[in-house]
Amino acid sequence: MADIIKLLPDHVANQIAAGEVVQRPASVVKELLENAIDAGADTIKLIVKEGGKALIQVVDTGSGMSATDARLSFERHATSKIKSANDLFNLQTKGFRGEALASIAAIAHVDMQTRIADDELGTHLKIEGSKVIFQEPSATPIGTSISVKNIFFNIPARRNFLKSNQVELRHIIDEFHRVVLAHPDIEFHLFNNGSEIFNLPRTTFRKRIVGVFGSKMNERLVPLEEETEVITISGFICKPEFAKKSRGEQFFFANGRFIKSPYLHHAVANAFEGLIKPDSNPGYFLNLHVDPASIDINIHPTKTEVKFEDENTLYAILRSTVKHGLGQFNVLPSLDFERDQNLDTPYSYVQKEAVFPKVSVDSSFNPFEKGERITQDFKKSSVKGWETLYESLPTETLEGMQLESSSVEQGAIEAMDDLRIQNPPIFQLHRKYVVTSVKSGMLVIDQNRAHQRVLFERYLGAMTVEKGASQQLLFPVEIEITKNELATINEIYTSLVNIGFIFEETDSEKLVVKGVPSGIAENNTVELLHQIIAEYQSDELEGLSTQAELLAGILCKKLAIKNGDLLQPESQMALVSDLFSCKETLVSPFKKMIYITISRGDIEKKFM
Ligand code: ADP
Ligand code: MG
Repeated sequence: MADIIKLLPDHVANQIAAGEVVQRPASVVKELLENAIDAGADTIKLIVKEGGKALIQVVDTGSGMSATDARLSFERHATSKIKSANDLFNLQTKGFRGEALASIAAIAHVDMQTRIADDELGTHLKIEGSKVIFQEPSATPIGTSISVKNIFFNIPARRNFLKSNQVELRHIIDEFHRVVLAHPDIEFHLFNNGSEIFNLPRTTFRKRIVGVFGSKMNERLVPLEEETEVITISGFICKPEFAKKSRGEQFFFANGRFIKSPYLHHAVANAFEGLIKPDSNPGYFLNLHVDPASIDINIHPTKTEVKFEDENTLYAILRSTVKHGLGQFNVLPSLDFERDQNLDTPYSYVQKEAVFPKVSVDSSFNPFEKGERITQDFKKSSVKGWETLYESLPTETLEGMQLESSSVEQGAIEAMDDLRIQNPPIFQLHRKYVVTSVKSGMLVIDQNRAHQRVLFERYLGAMTVEKGASQQLLFPVEIEITKNELATINEIYTSLVNIGFIFEETDSEKLVVKGVPSGIAENNTVELLHQIIAEYQSDELEGLSTQAELLAGILCKKLAIKNGDLLQPESQMALVSDLFSCKETLVSPFKKMIYITISRGDIEKKFM
């Protein structure tokens, strides 16, 4: 038989290589952006149309190419970035395989204009399916502009395989995120179908993250910093309460390159264990700097999967760095670039002189008279507010009471003890926390969780101890209900009535409500009842077992003060005193920590 092996023509070989490098428009975006970065650009513009199917263009202010290089750049294995295999172990650039432009030109219509600083005229080059259509001198700015049109025009099977423009754009934006986050020192713009969707000036890593994900991201970030002999870690993790079910805000950058690493992801997730739900993912933006010789990037054509030399050690260091960061964030204020207005002195107070707090002692108080009166004051505290509460708490009695009430935890006793300051300073932070100073330092109270606890105990009491107060509705409200919903209402009827609902009649289709628990807005009645039914049926409140607990849980979740609600000083005080008259003060009904104490010692340590 005759010899049968033939070398493939270049354009066929290129198409095969393209299959590896270019899966979809987003892959082209990645390669072009990386080339612009390698060329030293300080501003990079990405322009896409129709999810990148019609056009992907990257305009950079980098070095540009000479006329010869411009032509050569489209040859396979043509690269300016490595010269020998040894260079692979000390890579400083994104690219090095010299395949991207050749692959892209094999499957699309490419138009390139480029000029180096030394030349007065640049080059204009057009290639379609690996075929050079023309190359001519042209007047063009220093740098490079490449546009890629009609991707996969010559491979219909692949073109048909592309998803909708929306989905392809999503992939492009993901790719864009990865690149811009790795390079906050470069200015980026992204235009989609003619409108600019990202405008990112050069800035710090933190501000770049916020620029990409929006201003609410700022308060979520916890900074990390760790330097060891094998790795330097820097960047941010997101606070546990912002962990999401979906993946998306997980970014590792190894020596400035976005990488995927399920193994290192596991290290981070492991450090979050116990702080987030098992099925949710922590967010992170972490820069890992290692010796370039200890990392192999050449194991996959798209270079997002890499191999580290000593992965086990990296795992351990990363895990403990994240754990450490999580431990610290409870006490470290976040370094906002915007001042929190809640911390500013209200305008009308600026000129006023500070009033010295008065100390008043209940002189009629008889310490041998048993502590009952005080206990009662505690129970009614929400009405009387904060000052009255603490005015009537002489030291001895409080201590006497502490010994009696074994149901109150030690931590709460201490906090309460500390609160015996006249007019303690109190303020709201980020519309989320109520902060107050106590003898031993300060308390930071989560307003939502604290109020959940207060309401939970109130409703629970109404169902089990004494009936809650009702408020008659001016006009009875009719609620349409299904058979299914009626069954639920019947099941929890007594509890609802105990909390304070008054029903006139219930039949198979409607429910007539004449009264609601006091404190509930009238116009909320319909929605609230539907929500109670839905929540009760969904059975999603973990840890609450009895019917009364479940109902109290549903109501307190719906009705508690939310994060973001602005609280007047009186309400802040009432909330704190209500909280500390609860049976349980440390954790919310859903087992979340209600407050943290930052001791004087902790604060002093920070200033050492
Ligand atoms: P690689 O990036 O792996 O070297 P590419 O095919 O992406 O391979 O690019 C080939 C060569 O073309 C690069 O090595 C570089 O010299 C040149 N090049 C590509 N894009 C640009 C650009 N935007 N500016 C300057 N030079 C570029
Ligand atoms: Mg490249």
